[in-house]
Amino acid sequence: MTKAEKIRQTLLQTRERRKNQIPVVYQLKINLNSAEKETKDKLFKLFLEAKWLYNYIVADIENRLNEDADKLKEVEIKVGESFEKREITNLTLQMKQALVERIKQNLYDLHRQKQKGYKTGKLQFKHHVNSIPLKQFGNTFKFINQQKTRVKIQGIKKPLRVLGGHQILEGVEIAKAELIKKPSGIHLFVTCYIDRDKYTKIWEHRKNRKGVVKPRVWQTFDSVAGVDFKPIGLMLSSGLKFEWLIKETERLKTLQKELARQQKGSKRWYKTKEKIAREYERITNIKYDIINKVCSFLYRYRTVCFQEDHIKCWKEGYFSKSVHYSAVGIIKRRLSDSLRVPAVAIKSNIPTTKTCSRCGSRQEISLSDRIFKCSVCGLEIDRDLNSAINMLKSVGLDRSELTPVEWETSARIFGNNPYILVSHTT
Ligand SMILES: [Zn+2]
Repeated sequence: MTKAEKIRQTLLQTRERRKNQIPVVYQLKINLNSAEKETKDKLFKLFLEAKWLYNYIVADIENRLNEDADKLKEVEIKVGESFEKREITNLTLQMKQALVERIKQNLYDLHRQKQKGYKTGKLQFKHHVNSIPLKQFGNTFKFINQQKTRVKIQGIKKPLRVLGGHQILEGVEIAKAELIKKPSGIHLFVTCYIDRDKYTKIWEHRKNRKGVVKPRVWQTFDSVAGVDFKPIGLMLSSGLKFEWLIKETERLKTLQKELARQQKGSKRWYKTKEKIAREYERITNIKYDIINKVCSFLYRYRTVCFQEDHIKCWKEGYFSKSVHYSAVGIIKRRLSDSLRVPAVAIKSNIPTTKTCSRCGSRQEISLSDRIFKCSVCGLEIDRDLNSAINMLKSVGLDRSELTPVEWETSARIFGNNPYILVSHTT
């Protein structure tokens, strides 16, 4: 067998295996506190060289994107009005290959967009390249101890300390990773593949550990939940209500004012810019913390029902809509993709808000009305609660009252999070 045949064979085998696997991405943080200066510099240089390489190829894509593109050892960069030569010493061959592949992928995406009738230009230069692909586990990166606290990255002599390696379950197939530069530091996003059966089994196992008195038992609820999503929270059919407050922090406002006063391009100006970037990252982290916690809570139900997207018709006027919208979007997507809870998405044309949840008669209700009043049976109920109950009804399930277990669990999960408010409506 020739080398090319062998590679083809392995690719086919991998593709076959992936059919029964699901990808999981673990986010680890590289701990640079104890690293030597030389190692740190090398690591940051990777991102700079990746930028040089990207822009150098993009500048003359017809001539430079050829089969020798990944063997480039020297590039020209634009400094002011003239060009200067820079050596590429830290990126390894495999990293360069992956970066060149990425340019090809970007070109292909542009091409597809054009086919669909969108107006497309050329590939743009990048101000930053914030991710370095590490494609082959064992080659471009590997864990050098069993606890996965130390990682060796190709081209960097000393192994690096990482935080969070313990999340990677035993027996998963580690496939690839990416080095990600964020304002708070450098992270390693590791993509693993786990067998479908095994994954469900792990979660089944956790769900079934009833009665085991452990501080961190995975508490489940026997009931089903209808969920009514709002831009800033959600209402469950049991009457439990979550509202979150993700917004610009005071610190961010202060920093932005500071930046406006400073001279653009000065040392202080750059410092403030970095602080702002870090603050934005912090807000994103808060958002993901809320998303994770809400999902973790919803996974505990036997079934979750929610309505398909009708985000577009939400009233405008909320602060930074995009932040809230994306949070709800992510939660919905996670619920539909997750194997941990059977989620039922109800069609968006079912009028859950306008129907009485007791007698089923249709009522008009204006956007400002918080209470749904039924003129047929006389029911008076919170409008969101009414629609949450209707979600369950539309798939033939009955509502259950809030149980003490649900209440306690919600208190445990959200109790000391100042950005989320839990209340109960009857
Ligand atoms: Zn009614």
